[in-house]
Amino acid sequence: MRKDVRILLVGEPKVGKTSLIMSLVSEEFPNVVPYRAEEITIPADVTPERVPTHIVDYSEAEQTDEQLFQEISKANVICIVYSVNNKTSIEKVTSHWIPLITENTDKDSRVPLILVGNKSDLVEHSSMETILPIMNQYSEIETCVECSAKNLKNISELFYYAQKAVLHPTGPLYCPEKKDMKPLCVKALTRIFKVSDLDNDGILNDNELNFFQRTCFNTPLEPQALEDVKNVVRKNLNDGVCDNGLTLKGFLFLHTLFIQRGRHETTWTVLRRFGYDDDLELNQDYLFPPLKVPPDCTTELNHNAYLFLQSIFDKHDKDRDCALSPEELRDLFDVFPYMPWGPDVNNTVCTNDQGWITYQGYLSQWTLTTYLDVQRCLEYLGYLGYSIIAEQESQASGITVTRDKKIDLQKKQTQRSVFRCNVFGDIGCGKSGFLQAFLGRNLMLHEVFPDFDYLSDADLACDIVCLVYDVSNPYSFDYCAKVFKQYFTDSKTPCMIIAAKSDLPEIKQMYGCSPLEFCRRHRMPPPQSFTCNTAAAPSRDIYTKLTTMAMYPHARLRCMCTCNRCTFCLCQNFLNSELLQMVRAKLFAVVLRRHVSQADLTTSTFWLRASVGATVFAVLGFTMYRVLLKQR
Ligand code: GDP
Ligand code: MG
Repeated sequence: MRKDVRILLVGEPKVGKTSLIMSLVSEEFPNVVPYRAEEITIPADVTPERVPTHIVDYSEAEQTDEQLFQEISKANVICIVYSVNNKTSIEKVTSHWIPLITENTDKDSRVPLILVGNKSDLVEHSSMETILPIMNQYSEIETCVECSAKNLKNISELFYYAQKAVLHPTGPLYCPEKKDMKPLCVKALTRIFKVSDLDNDGILNDNELNFFQRTCFNTPLEPQALEDVKNVVRKNLNDGVCDNGLTLKGFLFLHTLFIQRGRHETTWTVLRRFGYDDDLELNQDYLFPPLKVPPDCTTELNHNAYLFLQSIFDKHDKDRDCALSPEELRDLFDVFPYMPWGPDVNNTVCTNDQGWITYQGYLSQWTLTTYLDVQRCLEYLGYLGYSIIAEQESQASGITVTRDKKIDLQKKQTQRSVFRCNVFGDIGCGKSGFLQAFLGRNLMLHEVFPDFDYLSDADLACDIVCLVYDVSNPYSFDYCAKVFKQYFTDSKTPCMIIAAKSDLPEIKQMYGCSPLEFCRRHRMPPPQSFTCNTAAAPSRDIYTKLTTMAMYPHARLRCMCTCNRCTFCLCQNFLNSELLQMVRAKLFAVVLRRHVSQADLTTSTFWLRASVGATVFAVLGFTMYRVLLKQR
C-alpha cells in the first residue's frame, strides 16, 4: 500500500484555493487569507482512507514557475480550481493548466486531475454543462466537483475524492467514453469470479458470496443485503442472477455499477485482495512470497496444500471420472495467464486410457513441480488463489522445506516424503519400460545411450539409484557395474540393480562375476527381476522396495533380505502389512523422462512419493475423494 498522498491545488489567482484549504482545516470560512497556505499534513487516522495526506497550496504571487513545476512533479493528484462565476478561470483549465501539468509530469506515471468549481454559493446554475465535455476529452481527469469554501459545501468530499483518485484510480478500471470496464479489469474480475466459484458451476451462491465478502471486506453480508444486491442485478439484467446466485455477467455488472456510482474503492479492495497491483497485474509480492530453501534441502507440498489441490481437481473434474479431459484441464488453468502444462506432462505422469491426466497424475505433477522448481509452484498456487481459498497467509505456508539430507543420514531417519531416484542403464536395456511401467503402462520408448563420463554432482544427487541391465543382453551388466564403481562404491546413496526384460531367457553376463555375486560383494540387495512385457500389470513391488530404501538410506544393505532382522527386511515387513498394502497401491508416482532429443541425457530420474507416516493422509486423500464422489 502507498505511504502517503500529496495533493496540490492550482488555478488562477483569487479562485479560492487558499480559502478551500483553510476551510477544511478550521471548518469555518476565513474572511482574510494569506496568498498561500502553509503545507499541511493530515495524519493517517483522521483521513477516510487512513493514509497521511499532504495538502499543498500554490500562489502565483509568491512562487516562481520553477517552484510550481517542481510541485507538479511531486504531486500524486492535482486539483485544478476554477471559480464557477468566472468564465476566464474555466477557460484557463484547458488553455493553460492541463497542458502545463502534462508538460511537467512523466508520461508513464499518470497524475490524476480533479476539476474543482469553487464559490458555488454565488450562482444559481451549475458549471457542469461546460465541464463535462472537458472531462470527456481528458482521460486523466478523475472527477469533478462543485463546492463552496464559504458554505463549507463539499469541502471534505473534495479532499476525499483527491485521496481516492490516488489510492483507487478509475483510470485502469473504466473507460468513460465506452461507459464500460476496461478489458484488463474484466479479465482480472473474471479470474476472481472463477477462483471464488468453489463448485465451478458458473454461479456464486450465497455461501460463496459470503465467503467472498468475508475474505475481501472482513465482514459477512447481512442476508437482507445479499438479497438487495441480487435484486439490483435482477432489475438490470435478465441473466445476472441464476438459481438464486450471481452469474459472471451479474458479478461484472455489479462492479461496473460500483465504478459508475463512484464506489470504485470497492472494486479495488477486491482486486487488491486477490493480488492485483495498480496496473491490474498480479503483484510479484503476491506471486512469490519469501521462502528460504537452504542447500541440500528439498521442498514438498504439505497436507493443507494437497487438500487444496484436491479440491481444485474435484471442482474441475465435471464428469467425475477422476481424470481431466483436455477441456477440463483448460478450464482449470483458465485462471492462469498462460497454460502451464504442455503436452509432455501427459508422458510423465499417470494418464487414463484416453491419455488424460488422472487425479494421481495431477497430484504427481504438482509434487514434481514443488520438488524441482518451488518458485514456479508458489506462482501457480498464487494463480489458483491458494492463500485466499485455503485462508493462509501466503502460498509459502503450503510448502514444507525438508531438512538437510546429511542430517537425515546422521539421524538415520528422514522426514521427507518425496524421493528422487536416478535410473542408469545401457542403451536399450529397458529403462523406459521400467519408468513407464511405474505409471501403469506397458509402453516401450526409445532411449539415447547415456555417456556416464560426464555426470555432474547435480546429476548424481538423489535419494536412491537404480542400475538397470537387460538379462537377455550379455553386455549390459558391464555398464551398471562401471557406473556403480565410478560413482557409488563409496557413496551413502542406496543402490539397487534391476534385471530388466526378465520375461526373456537369461543369458550369462560378460562380466567378471554374476550380478548376484556383484550385489553380495557390494552389500546391495539382489538384482530385482522386472518385466513390463506381461499381460497383467507389471509388478509394482519394486517401487515399494525403492521407496523403502530411499526412506531408510542408512540401510546400505548387509544381507540378502531373508534374515528378517535387518532394517531392510523389517521395513519390507512393515510395508507389506495390510493397511499399508492398501495405501501402497495408491503410491503417488512421478516420472520425469528427460527428452530423448536432449543431447545431455544421462540418466532418467523419477520421483517416489512415499506413503508412510505423516503423509499417509495425503495419499489417502485419493480414497477419500472416491468416497466423496460416491455420495454425490
Ligand atoms: P486564491 O488566490 O485562489 O488562493 O483565492 P483566495 O482563497 O485568496 O480567495 C480569493 C477571494 O475569494 C477571497 O476574497 C475569498 O474570500 C473569496 N472566496 C473564496 N472562496 C469563496 C467561496 O466559496 N465563496 C465566495 N463567495 N467567496 C470565496
Ligand atoms: Mg491563495
